[in-house]
Amino acid sequence: MAHECPKCTFVADAESIFVGWSSTVKVGKDPKLVGCFTMPNWSGHSNFYLFSCPVCGVDSVDYPHGYTNDGIRNGLLYLICQNCKEVKLLYDKDIYEALGMPAPPSFWEVLKQIWTMRKKLKGSEV
Ligand SMILES: [Zn+2]
Ligand SMILES: [Zn+2]
Repeated sequence: MAHECPKCTFVADAESIFVGWSSTVKVGKDPKLVGCFTMPNWSGHSNFYLFSCPVCGVDSVDYPHGYTNDGIRNGLLYLICQNCKEVKLLYDKDIYEALGMPAPPSFWEVLKQIWTMRKKLKGSEV
């Protein structure tokens, strides 16, 4: 049975969301929330974001995937460019809040972590 709830809109595919929204909103590098959607064979729904790919410059629509686990930037949600498949990492706390997920550490918090780690490494060298 198809997923049905008052929060989301049913669409045939991501392409229909893109076609419906790309002409009405200004697409920028910052992902813009276009709504909550569900699709055939989905048991739930997801927020979709419209964004301009920083790598190839083509506009895309996608939902947050998660989490990154590359050892450098772990625990981040990301969007995938439908054109070049480049990953766009999400740092915006609002996106995480909208999904009810814990927000990633801010840029400064990450810097602080690296700083503390470096200090520790230096200490162990002596
Ligand atoms: Zn729903
Ligand atoms: Zn791209």
